[in-house]
Amino acid sequence: AKNKGRDTLALYDQSIDLAARERREIEIDLREAVARGQLNLHYQPVIDLQSGSVVGYEALLRWYHPKRGIIGPADFLEVAEETGLIVPIGEWSIRQAFAETAKWEGRFRIAINLSPTQVRSPHLVKVIAQSLHAHGIAPERVEFEITEHVLMQESSISMGNLQKLRELGTRIALDDFGIGYSSLSYLRRFPFDRIKIDKDFVDGVESSADNQAIVSSITKLAEALGMATTAEGVETRDQLDLLRRLGCQEAQGYLICEPVPGENFATADAVDAAM
Ligand code: C2E
Ligand code: CA
Ligand code: CA
Ligand code: CA
Repeated sequence: AKNKGRDTLALYDQSIDLAARERREIEIDLREAVARGQLNLHYQPVIDLQSGSVVGYEALLRWYHPKRGIIGPADFLEVAEETGLIVPIGEWSIRQAFAETAKWEGRFRIAINLSPTQVRSPHLVKVIAQSLHAHGIAPERVEFEITEHVLMQESSISMGNLQKLRELGTRIALDDFGIGYSSLSYLRRFPFDRIKIDKDFVDGVESSADNQAIVSSITKLAEALGMATTAEGVETRDQLDLLRRLGCQEAQGYLICEPVPGENFATADAVDAAM
């Protein structure tokens, strides 16, 4: 029994070691990723639930890793956040999103995710203002998506940056709404333009009256506060129809279109086919 205990401990040590090594490896590779042009943005269309037409796109980061293939943010964002690498990566993303948006026709919205470390970064607003100007993008077309983690830290730099982004004319959305500990209280800390209803509620919406009551309450609350609503992660027709009936304004999800690289998207066609 004594030996078994020791073996288990050794194994446990090894797995910690492995995780630490993997993180270290990700960090080293990630440092080079921007310089080597391995980062890319994929875009997911957002539709208006009344008209069915595309009103915007959300930019989502992808890492074209030479050995591991295309990696999503779930596998590297934590390391990027902890090491601060998210700041240069985020600045690249902002410039890239504006550069690509400038090439596309139409005046749709472009949504960009910002992590807590990015929002706390002192140069954020300057970088955004310069990039908007460099690519001739009207600020009203740009929406930054933050989660309540940004507000949880009660940083005055973060609040100041959000305020300044507002003054620039860009919009701010509260992402992943409803799954946090005190989502409601965060609605009072900043006058958001939009609430993004988390996929958790979208997933359950067709299965119970309770879930429908929750979504319906969120849309009513948003309306009362003068905020728009977008539902994320819509995968079925039933969900889409219900969300529309429950008063949600916009939706995005695999049913409509998966995130696709900017260079090869014939979005209008892709979306028509799905609807
Ligand atoms: P998020 O902002 O909540 O983005 C939605 C996530 O759901 C995306 O995952 C998207 O690909 C995925 N998704 C969209 N439709 C569906 C659907 O119908 N079903 C399912 N199962 N998933 C769907 P992704 O691209 O892996 O991004 C994960 C998270 O990483 C994002 O969550 C966001 O918080 C963060 N992120 C992505 N890009 C960036 C970025 O450029 N900067 C920062 N700071 N964070 C980013
Ligand atoms: Ca988002
Ligand atoms: Ca989200
Ligand atoms: Ca989510």
